[in-house]
Amino acid sequence: MPLRDECGVIGFYNVEDASQKAYYGLFALQHRGQESAGIVSMESSTGKTYTYRHMGMVTEVFSRSILRKLPGDMAIGHVRYSTHGASAPRNIQPLVVEYHWGTFAVAHNGNIVNADILRKELQREGAIFHTTIDTEILLHLIAMDDSEYIENKIVNSLDKLRGAFSMVMLTPRYLIAARDPNGFRPLVLGRLGEGWVVASETCAFDLIGARYERDIEPGEVLFIGESGLFSKYLSGRGKRSYCVFELIYFARPDSMIFDGVSVYEIRKKFGEKLAEEQYIDADMVIPVPDSGVPAAIGYSQRSGIPFEMGLIRNHYIGRTFIQPEQGQRDIGVKLKLNPVKNLLKGKRVVVIDDSIVRGTTSRKIIRMLRNAGAKEVHLRISSPPVTHPCFYGIDTPAQKELIASQKASSIEDIRKELEADSLGYLSIEGLMEVVGKAENFCYACFTGNYPVDPIGVERTLQMSLFEISKEEEK
Ligand code: SF4
Repeated sequence: MPLRDECGVIGFYNVEDASQKAYYGLFALQHRGQESAGIVSMESSTGKTYTYRHMGMVTEVFSRSILRKLPGDMAIGHVRYSTHGASAPRNIQPLVVEYHWGTFAVAHNGNIVNADILRKELQREGAIFHTTIDTEILLHLIAMDDSEYIENKIVNSLDKLRGAFSMVMLTPRYLIAARDPNGFRPLVLGRLGEGWVVASETCAFDLIGARYERDIEPGEVLFIGESGLFSKYLSGRGKRSYCVFELIYFARPDSMIFDGVSVYEIRKKFGEKLAEEQYIDADMVIPVPDSGVPAAIGYSQRSGIPFEMGLIRNHYIGRTFIQPEQGQRDIGVKLKLNPVKNLLKGKRVVVIDDSIVRGTTSRKIIRMLRNAGAKEVHLRISSPPVTHPCFYGIDTPAQKELIASQKASSIEDIRKELEADSLGYLSIEGLMEVVGKAENFCYACFTGNYPVDPIGVERTLQMSLFEISKEEEK
């Protein structure tokens, strides 16, 4: 639950008022990034480009008058939570540049693991960077590629990147959608009237009335232009490593991702499996809202223990809320969650959450439930213990801060630290069984088996991506 989302992207081709649709689409993808938002629109008839990007949530960044200043039938958009590069105005996406053959804009979700190596090579060759984000590397690679055609320049440049990228790009001729050969992050293609839409998740399609067509394949670079659609493919294609955490927590439950998996249904199945593996006799099952709800429903239905909403979430805490000062930290969780005292008094409660990272939030929730009168508090987690950081675009803390990775920490040690009466995780085998086609997924934050070498593993294991990028900016 306390892991941070990465980014969300959206793109349109041949759609009336494309920026307006991008606004709605980004609003639906807001859960993937709340720090900044941006839209680049383009008129296909003239190639004229319009850009607006700012720090803040989608509804804070755009107004009706701003959207009117973004005309065109093509657009790409981005919501960002920084995992690489500081949270600063110059790093807001989409990035836009002018080449001798016209405008090029790009928006990226994921994390490029060889970014620092490529950046240093490019700088030695004379490139000057304007941002500290990995996405800018692609712009320099394209500029330096000596292929004759833009299509080949883009594919050759993407082929040099390692790690996770689901990208949308805009040129005067094309909307382009690209996904890394492992397909870590989702990217889906939809139809809107006579036009086309690409987005991180299908929940963006629902809001604008687009129809899901298919996923962009791992390793596919899809060009959408006047003569229709055509694809080119990156080398290394074939080994899929979809991020299983998208299914556990990141994606919206009303989305379908990774070749049509319903996020809601699979989370419910994680809860069912958890009830089979980690049953405990209790009076009620309660979720940690919102992300724990589908798994709690599954746990309740499989165990026969009644489902109740014992914790109520306040949805209105925004980015601008005055954060508590040091010494008032305990109020942080209370601002978001409040227990229903009458329901909990004297009851044995099974609390369902999707994951534990540092454990601090879980301990506060357990204390909160006890203070509300719960007789017993049993914690059940619908994923295995998180023992390793992610290098593919999810902001995880350094390994030493993960409660389940601390040396010699057994489940019993974690239980004591969290002050729960009992603790049970979904097993990795159980997770794989529910996911099906288990070989198509990445589980590295549970196993440490990284499908793409994160480069300098020893050093990176001790530091989160955020710490590394901050260090390198000094
Ligand atoms: S390490 Fe974990 S969070 Fe990162 S891509 Fe793999 S499964 Fe997803």
